[in-house]
Amino acid sequence: MTETSQFMRPEQHPFLGDENPFKAMMSRFDYAAELLHLDAGLYKVLRSPEKQIIVSVPILLDSGEVEVYTGYRVLYNTSRGPGKGGIRFDLGVTLDEVRALAAWMTWKCAVVNIPFGGAKGGVVCDPLTMSVGELERLTRRYTSSIIEVLGPDSDVPAPDVNTNERVMAWIMDTYSMHHRHTVTSVVTGKPVELGGSLGRREATGRGCMIVTQQALQHLGMPLKGARVVVQGFGNVGSIAAELLQQEGCVIVGASDVSGGLYSKKGLDVKDVIAWRKEHKYVSGYPKADAVTNEELLTLDCDVLLPAALENVITARNAASIKAKVIIEGANGPTAAGADEILDKKGIFVVPDILANAGGVTVSYFEWVQDRGGWFWTEAVVNERLTEIMVNSFQNVLAVSKKYNVNMRIAAYTLAIDRVASVHRLRGLYA
Ligand code: NAD
Repeated sequence: MTETSQFMRPEQHPFLGDENPFKAMMSRFDYAAELLHLDAGLYKVLRSPEKQIIVSVPILLDSGEVEVYTGYRVLYNTSRGPGKGGIRFDLGVTLDEVRALAAWMTWKCAVVNIPFGGAKGGVVCDPLTMSVGELERLTRRYTSSIIEVLGPDSDVPAPDVNTNERVMAWIMDTYSMHHRHTVTSVVTGKPVELGGSLGRREATGRGCMIVTQQALQHLGMPLKGARVVVQGFGNVGSIAAELLQQEGCVIVGASDVSGGLYSKKGLDVKDVIAWRKEHKYVSGYPKADAVTNEELLTLDCDVLLPAALENVITARNAASIKAKVIIEGANGPTAAGADEILDKKGIFVVPDILANAGGVTVSYFEWVQDRGGWFWTEAVVNERLTEIMVNSFQNVLAVSKKYNVNMRIAAYTLAIDRVASVHRLRGLYA
């Protein structure tokens, strides 16, 4: 999902879990809507995407043949500001998936109270089999096909599965060529030289670290010495692990697609990162025991930080989880069927739309900096990120106390309430 992500193979696609994560999301939406006594009209409005675009994207392959790809862009809700959300290149992309991810972005931006709506896009393709030239032509043609919705005031894409800084630079260049001047604020997640923000690469992991601090403080558990297990050692997982270790946590487990590592006395995260850099994966790291990804999730620890895939905590394994706190670095790591089991066990879950919102928050900072043409130091970015994450955690906690619900339902309730109140203020243009 990031500028630094390696291209995922289709078989690693994050939507291969046993439950449709978006149905799960909508069931949580319904729960929150009921708590809020959302009126029937607004309920219908908030369950409907504003705009869905399907485009055919013909490009010339290196072989000289023409291939036509299908692309989507969905603006789910822009009542609070421009659409914000990534673009993914993947064989598994469908309109249903893009629509649901766009809804997810709507709630996420509202939880952290940044002035964006939710959007998402995708092109059905296998980037692993395409050359750089083909990817560039695909990106530029897709961009020009959806150019009427793009813009700093209307829709601002970002990287997602299998897209990165370079793809964002092509989108920005194509848009700028059409508009006859450079418009850096049309995308976020760009290279820093092109108007990207310092701190963006670390932002999601940093946000996870901040909400972990908040959660442990709330529960009266010390951060120093807290035993943490991290699933996924990519952008989010490895950075969260490194920052948590700097705060005194002991990272007892970590994994990636190749398998997991366990060390009772704690892993040296920098050393594991160096190993992964050299060997591509964490497995084989000599100073820890090997565990499977399934075993990793049920290790004895204080904090479990799933930062890889969707649907890894399910009704099947939830009862075996020993962590006291779960910080959802990934999107949708917990299947809806597991929520009740985790609640009954008294596990405190910081949901994805809060826990991993650090990334979109610094994307917002990038957009602000580009528009103002005034760039912040990394220290300023991190300070403002911390303020937003701490406030958001406390706001969600207050809602959870008010309605006596878990943090996930509280986050949805806060988000839906914010989007609904903007609709009420704006009225219905008819
Ligand atoms: P990434 O590609 O950098 O890293 C993914 C990691 O997960 C890799 O280490 C990979 O080996 C591992 N992985 C893949 N399949 C696995 C499996 N079956 N078991 C265990 N590990 C597996 O991706 P990322 O940017 O770190 O994103 C991770 C999650 O966080 C995704 O759900 C993403 O949507 C979410 N997220 C990322 C950001 C961001 O800014 N990067 C923001 C919000 C949410």
